[in-house]
Amino acid sequence: MSAEASTRLAGVMGWPVAHSLSPRLHGFWLKSYGIDGAYLPLAVRPENIAGALRALPLLGFRGANVTLPHKEATLRTVDWVEPLARRIGAVNTVIVGDDGSLEGRNTDAFGFMENLRQGAPEWRADAGPAVVLGAGGAARAVVVALQDAGVPLICVVNRDRARTEALAADLGRDGAVGRIAVEPWQSRDEVLADAALLVNSTSLGLAGGPELEIALDALPKAALVTDLVYRPLETGLLKAAKARGNRTVDGLGMLLHQARPGFAAWFGRDPEVTPELRAAVLA
Ligand code: NDP
Repeated sequence: MSAEASTRLAGVMGWPVAHSLSPRLHGFWLKSYGIDGAYLPLAVRPENIAGALRALPLLGFRGANVTLPHKEATLRTVDWVEPLARRIGAVNTVIVGDDGSLEGRNTDAFGFMENLRQGAPEWRADAGPAVVLGAGGAARAVVVALQDAGVPLICVVNRDRARTEALAADLGRDGAVGRIAVEPWQSRDEVLADAALLVNSTSLGLAGGPELEIALDALPKAALVTDLVYRPLETGLLKAAKARGNRTVDGLGMLLHQARPGFAAWFGRDPEVTPELRAAVLA
C-alpha cells in the first residue's frame, strides 16, 4: 500500500485490534473499486479513546470504526449521536464532518438485518415471534433491528436476568410491534415453541470457548436460525439447526454489511457484499 497527500484515510480503533477483520474487508473494497484510500488498524488503549477520536480530524482522517472496548465511551465522546445509536447505547462508526466535528453512528442493526435479508430473502418480520439469546451490546442492536423491521414479539433470554431487564426497560416500547418479553435462561428450550426466528447473540459457540447448550426440539421447522458468532462460520447451533431442516444464516455477513455505511461515508461508494469479499475475508 502506498499513500499520497490525497489518500483518504480511515481505520478501526480497538484494544486489542490485531484480530479485527475490518482492515482486510475495507482493503478488499478499496482495491476492487480502485479508490485512493487506506484503512488502518489503530491500537488504542481504553484510557486514550477520547484523545484518539479527537485526533481524527487533526490527522486528516475521514472517520473510523470503533470496536471493543470503545463502543460506549465513543458514544459519550462524539459531538453528535444519531438516534439509532443512542437507542442501542453504543457507537461503532465515526464520521468526521467538514467542520471537524465527530458524528457517531451504529451500523450493527443495519448489518444484522441486511445479512438476514441477503441470506434468507423469504424471511418475513411479521411471521411470528423472535427469540434472542443474549443481552449484551450485540443483542441490543439485534433487538432494535427486529423492532424496526416489525417483528411482533421479541423474547430475550439471558443468563444475567438483571441485564435482560435493563435491555427491556431501555428498548421496550408501548404498543404491539416490537414488544419485548424477558425470559429466564433456564427456559431457553421451551420458549422456542412458536418462534419464527432464533438469534444467538451471546458469545457462546465462539471457537475455544464454551458451547451454547440448547435443545432445538420445540423449534418449528419453518423457523430461521442465525448466529452472530462467525468463528467458526458454522457454529454448533447452526450445525444442529441445519441437521433438523431449519434454514440458517451465518454471522459473517453481519460483519460485512455493518461496514458498508462507514465505507460509503469515508470513501464515497456504497460497496457490495459478494462471495468474493467473503472469500477474501476468510482467507
Ligand atoms: P457482550 O460481552 O456484551 O455479551 C456477551 C453475551 O454472552 C451476554 O449476553 C452474556 O450473558 C452471554 N454469555 C457469555 N458467556 C456465557 C455463558 N457461559 N453462559 C450464558 N451466557 C453467556 O458481547 P457482545 O454483545 O458485544 O457480543 C456477543 C457476541 O456477538 C460476540 O461473540 C461477538 O463477537 C458477536 N458479535 C458479532 C457481530 C457480527 O458482526 N457478526 C457483531 C457484534 C458482536 P451475561 O449477560 O449473562 O453475561
